[in-house]
Amino acid sequence: MPQKQVVVIGSGFAGLSTATHLAHAGYKVTILEKNTTPGGRARKFEAEGFVFDMGPSWYWMPDVFEKYFASFGKKPSDYYNLVRLDPSYTVVFGEKQFVNIPADLKDFKALLESMEPGVGPKLDAFLEQAAYKYKVGINDLVYRPSRSIFEFTNPRLLADIIRMDVFQSMAKHVRKFFNDEKIIRLMEFPVIFLGETADNIPALYSLMNYADIVLGTWYPMGGMHEIVKGMVKLAEEKGVNIQLGADVSQIEVQNGKAKGVVLKNGKKYEADVVVAAADYHHVDSQLLSPEYRNYSENYWNKRVMAPSSLLFYLGIDKKLENLTHHCLFFDEQMGPHADAIYKNPRWPERPLFYLSAASKTDLSVAPEGKENLVILIPLAPDLEDGEEIREKYYHMVMDRLEKLTGQEIRSHVVFKRSYAHSDFKADYNAFKGNAYGLANTLLQTAILKPSLKNKKVNNLYYTGQLTVPGPGVPPTIISGHVVSREIIKENNL
Ligand SMILES: Cc1cc2nc3c(=O)[nH]c(=O)nc-3n(C[C@H](O)[C@H](O)[C@H](O)COP(=O)(O)OP(=O)(O)OC[C@H]3O[C@@H](n4cnc5c(N)ncnc54)[C@H](O)[C@@H]3O)c2cc1C
Repeated sequence: MPQKQVVVIGSGFAGLSTATHLAHAGYKVTILEKNTTPGGRARKFEAEGFVFDMGPSWYWMPDVFEKYFASFGKKPSDYYNLVRLDPSYTVVFGEKQFVNIPADLKDFKALLESMEPGVGPKLDAFLEQAAYKYKVGINDLVYRPSRSIFEFTNPRLLADIIRMDVFQSMAKHVRKFFNDEKIIRLMEFPVIFLGETADNIPALYSLMNYADIVLGTWYPMGGMHEIVKGMVKLAEEKGVNIQLGADVSQIEVQNGKAKGVVLKNGKKYEADVVVAAADYHHVDSQLLSPEYRNYSENYWNKRVMAPSSLLFYLGIDKKLENLTHHCLFFDEQMGPHADAIYKNPRWPERPLFYLSAASKTDLSVAPEGKENLVILIPLAPDLEDGEEIREKYYHMVMDRLEKLTGQEIRSHVVFKRSYAHSDFKADYNAFKGNAYGLANTLLQTAILKPSLKNKKVNNLYYTGQLTVPGPGVPPTIISGHVVSREIIKENNL
């Protein structure tokens, strides 16, 4: 029997994970990636001695990465060197109000006690629930393909789902335990990764607090791209053929079956199974003819997208004071910024922002004596993002950064690149220029997410941050695992 051929469109975490699982199971797998480097939103670039991770910078849920590599008898340490950050991150509430979040749980509890005396036992109770949610959520729920409600109807799971407060908002849940405004902001921070505010994220996701506070913030030396490098190496060890600069323009369908794909340059690849690991909306609306689309434009326009972002990659010609590897600038109110992202899409008047200074941990990402900074401002999708507005926000953020950290930075910038909506569209075919896919709201959870299988094309599957289980590096790695299991089940070798 000839090997079954699988074509995977896209080399992000989801594409790499799918391809490696399928190759391991005996399929002949080719990844077609439009860009000239792999990793999708987690690509890197180098300029003037600085090495910038273009997308993710937070390494959370180390157990998910361990489980991924263990599927192939490997460990993350076979591919990269992980260190735990301490402090995990710094929250800036205002001038001289810098709070370092300690990695050690005892120290974290002491910090919270100093903000709200007597809060210790409440933190214990909060984390006990969060641990339970993490156990059920990350070890079970996220691995369900969510193609039918019946996957969730076994009595034990239903009891678990009720126990996990799925239907209450994260905002309400946090306020049941904590009163201090700063603690509330700390506890609500991790849901930023899920693409909505705490009012609209189910309390199931306090599992993210367990990931943050108990499991910790880690960093692969060399940068987040080391994960991509490791996953590419493993994929190639399994025989996956990765074609870069291979821009797919069409999925060819005959009698309800995908026959293969065509590249922009006319080259064709035949396939028994096609996996779309590129942005779901792009595949549905650009690569398929209308009769085979899984969802209408109207459907997509009603989805709550996770934010886009304006990013600045900066090389600084000196070492900076008062910054740690991850800094969250919460010196402005969340409410108006969230309104500008979700309710009345516009450029925010006084944005919150995030800064990553990987060179505080890793000397290899900047020349000696210099600093590597990435600044990220979350924004509503689909805003106009010309040079003028980018510059306006650059100076707005720089003014605050210089004032809050008490030093001159702007005049020491020796490399600067900005990145926003139009770049996400051009580089990744991102719907509305989204950065993190679809938000994990209650109405966009599990079976309510875009399905991982096409309803009209029997051998076409989807994976990645716009389908189950959702956005983020660990979920997209899991997404690839989940879809590969469905393919193996339905397309016997
Ligand atoms: C700025 C930013 C910061 C983030 N921070 C974090 C973080 O700190 N921690 C975290 O866990 N997550 C973070 N995320 C989210 C995480 O990076 C993403 O959820 C994840 O990388 C998405 O992986 P994916 O495989 O679904 O999609 P992608 O990485 O987008 O991969 C899809 C691939 O498909 C390719 N493609 C598209 N169209 C075609 C075509 N027609 N033909 C061929 N190839 C095509 C694209 O080029 C791309 O390489 C961040 C994301 C961004 C953008």
